[in-house]
Amino acid sequence: MHKQYMHAEISRIVRSKRKTFGLEITPEADLIVRVPMRASDKDIQKTVDKKIKWILAKQKLVRERCDKKQPRAFAEGEYFFYLGNQCKLYIMDNASTPLYFDSGSFILSARHAHKARDVFTKWYRKQAYDKFCQRASFFSAVSGLRYRKISISNAKRRWGSCSGKDNLNFNWRLIMAPLDIIDYVVVHELCHIEEKNHSKRFWDKVRNMMPDYKERRAWLKEKGHSLCLQD
Ligand SMILES: [Zn+2]
Repeated sequence: MHKQYMHAEISRIVRSKRKTFGLEITPEADLIVRVPMRASDKDIQKTVDKKIKWILAKQKLVRERCDKKQPRAFAEGEYFFYLGNQCKLYIMDNASTPLYFDSGSFILSARHAHKARDVFTKWYRKQAYDKFCQRASFFSAVSGLRYRKISISNAKRRWGSCSGKDNLNFNWRLIMAPLDIIDYVVVHELCHIEEKNHSKRFWDKVRNMMPDYKERRAWLKEKGHSLCLQD
């Protein structure tokens, strides 16, 4: 492959008082370029071109991790999604609970580190249940659509469902997504209470409650795969 055919998209350029150029690949495989205050576009592009092989290899590695080729280690410094944010994991020797969340970070007790996946899943499920109850109750009050009860599922591909008896079911992995996305799934399932199909009438109802639902739905289609613990 010729070098000029390789291309990496720059997600963000951060200018600061530094003298050197720095490249960073985020856990979402985005490329961030840190540059001196007065760096020109040409200089920035040159830096990226020079390191293009490294960038593409690193991005591939990060993406593959979420394609489940490389399971998570639950090691200190790893990032976990919660409500759309990347939150860093710390492991502490004498933490009082198996896992807690504080000021944007996860703290896992060292004693529970060997079963970190279970501990995380349990924590996510609990947060998911509370959040879905709260959001469903809100949108139910706004719309007058009454559901019976809420449960949390572990489905691999399905984000939510509404039963014939109007029980709502939501995937715990959604708690990793931004609230906007959670709300879209809630509204979607609530609308199934009156329309048990995906007819035009159904989508009209969704649009009525959430005019920008299409963008939220697209987000889920595009990024839903990243809402996982790589198990
Ligand atoms: Zn549906």
